[in-house]
Order: sequence, then structure tokens, then C-alpha cells
Amino acid sequence: MVAACMSMAERWNLAGATALVTGGSKGIGFAIVEELAGFGARVHTCSRNAAELEDCRRRWEEKGLQVTVSVCDVSVRADREDLMATVGATFGGKLDILVNNAGQSMFKHTLECTREDYARIMATNLESCFHLNQLAHPLLRASGGGGRVVHISSIAGFIGLPALAVYSMSKGAMNQLTRSLAAEWAGDGIRVNCVAPGGIRTDISSDKTIDPELVKKEMARMPMGRIGEPEEVASMVAFLCMPAASYMTGQVICIDGGRTIA
Ligand code: NDP
Repeated sequence: MVAACMSMAERWNLAGATALVTGGSKGIGFAIVEELAGFGARVHTCSRNAAELEDCRRRWEEKGLQVTVSVCDVSVRADREDLMATVGATFGGKLDILVNNAGQSMFKHTLECTREDYARIMATNLESCFHLNQLAHPLLRASGGGGRVVHISSIAGFIGLPALAVYSMSKGAMNQLTRSLAAEWAGDGIRVNCVAPGGIRTDISSDKTIDPELVKKEMARMPMGRIGEPEEVASMVAFLCMPAASYMTGQVICIDGGRTIA
């Protein structure tokens, strides 16, 4: 779809689109589900907690948003395969939008990281993203309007932060995967972009294992002087999924109050 051939109302719209957003029961993922569904998309989301997911689903239903849910641990290969089978069945073998959002952080000094820590973070943040892209590819190709993929990485993938090496490696690799897939899949009509948030107010940023001194230093380096809100990330994700962004692919966009330019 080329935006220039459309009316303004069509360009800034997701009506009728189908989307999978991983990790939608909380934080940034929750805001992304609401934003996409608010613009008219039908959204499927997942997390590991069935009760929380059902609670979210009921809240979205009350708001008139079209959202379905299923339990999936994205770090588990068989769960990812089941998730994509559910998505295929829910949306008739097609998917317009994939948002790889589910992720976990780990604040631990490099010398204290175990093999299990490394494997868990890499499987949850990076391997899940790579494999879900592979699984989604036939559904995205089948989407008449052109498939769109958005990865949620982190500014930790650009800058050096102490006690975050494994997390930062997983996010840096997601940034590169964005560029590689954008080049590989442009011919299939699939655009691949990435949003790299800075500090956003969610469970991750209120993790009690974060060194308070690091938080203080980080706040001092933030030109806008405040933490971001999940909705401020979700609005960029929605834009990247819209026909308005039809010439954008392979980009990693920081939503960070200016942290990476200071
Ligand atoms: P939250 O912890 O608030 O939410 C994470 C969501 O992902 C929850 O729905 C959680 O549900 C789900 N999730 C976590 N692990 C898994 C798993 N293995 N399988 C399926 N679902 C899972 O985190 P945020 O909203 O802050 O983070 C969202 C993304 O944004 C992450 O990729 C994170 O790295 C990134 N990010 C966040 C920043 C921040 O400051 N908040 C900054 C930069 C990047 P459940 O635990 O029940 O499974």
C-alpha cells in the first residue's frame, strides 16, 4: 500500500487490520494493544498469566475493543508454534501486523550472570522475536495490505549501561534483526521497523533490583527530565503500522526523552 494513493483518513487508520502483540497484559504491550485496537484493528495478545489476560480481555470488551487472548510463554518454542496456529485460525490464515513486545530485563553484573540467566534472557527477548517472525512470515505475506512488523528493543541496545550486558545484547541484536529482515522481506511487501524505548513507567522500570544510583544518574542525563509513559511508545508503534508509514522500513526509533542524544 502506498500512502500517496490514499485519502488522509485512509492513511492514518488501522480499521480492519489484524495484529498480534506479544506481552499485552501489562505495561507497554497493554498500551500497544489499546492503541492498535482503538484505531480499529482486531488484536490478539498473549502472556504467561491466564487470569491477568482474562481480566484484560474483559476490560477491553467493555471498551468495545476487539481483542482475543491466549496463554503463551514466548521463551518456549512449542508455545510459540501454538500461538501462531491460534493466530492463523483466529484471523483466517492472514496477519497484517506483528509486534514483538514481550521481554524481560535482568539487572546483574556480568561476572554474576549464570548460563541459565543468559539462556533465559536470550530465549525470551531475542530467540522468541526471531522465531515468531519466521512463523508469522506466511501469514504476513498472505495479508493483502502488506505485512508490518514492529520490534520493541531498548536504548540499552545503543548505549553502554552497567549491570545490563545480557539484556543489552539481546536488544542490540533485535535492532540488527530489524535491518536484516527489512532488507530480506521488502520484496514480500513486509515492512520491518523497531521502537527502542528509554525509561518507561512499567513493572520493568520499577524493578527493585535496579541500582537507585544508576536511576539517579540516568534521570540527570535525560534532557526531558522525566520517565516516559507506555502510551508514548504505543503511539509510535501505531504510526509504524499505518499506511502513513508506507515508505519506512528497517528503522530503529528511540522514544527516550532525548537520552540517546544527550
Ligand atoms: P512489563 O513487565 O510491564 O510487561 C511485560 C509483558 O510481557 C507482560 O504482559 C508480561 O506478562 C509479558 N511477558 C514477559 N515475559 C513473557 C514470556 N516469557 N512470555 C510471554 N509473555 C511474557 O514490561 P514493559 O512493558 O516495560 O516491557 C515491554 C517491552 O519493552 C520489553 O521488551 C522491554 O524490554 C521493553 N522496554 C521496556 C522499557 C521500560 O523502561 N519499561 C525500556 C526499554 C525497553 P507475564 O509476565 O504475565 O508473562
